[in-house]
Amino acid sequence: MDQLKLLNAAERGDEYYREHWSLYYAERRRLLHRVFRLAGALGVLFTLCSWALEKCPPLGYVLAVPTSILLLALPAQWFIFVWRMRTWTCPRCGEYFFTSTLVNNPFGRHCRHCRLVRPKESEPHAPGEWPSVLQ
Ligand SMILES: [Zn+2]
Repeated sequence: MDQLKLLNAAERGDEYYREHWSLYYAERRRLLHRVFRLAGALGVLFTLCSWALEKCPPLGYVLAVPTSILLLALPAQWFIFVWRMRTWTCPRCGEYFFTSTLVNNPFGRHCRHCRLVRPKESEPHAPGEWPSVLQ
């Protein structure tokens, strides 16, 4: 099985890795944007809720419900982001890129198993060549 992986890896060219890293960065951007949007919405709702609790308590109680939901959704979304990035598979060896038995480094620049180097986001493509945010 390992020989099959190595054989497949040898047949893969730069285009395969470029596409893989493009997908990785697009996914990372998509998940981070979701976290930031949730944080922004939570900030706005929390401010409105605080204001409404002082000025008009019934409205404050109504706004407390979506604020509470976002308060739970934000750490959940962060957990999803960390989990997805942590379990990203290496395009060469198929193992988790950032995680090995004893080490979990989400900022790692090389695969924990085969030492494949992760290019910087600006390296693999020319400007304007990145795929749009995945939906
Ligand atoms: Zn690898």
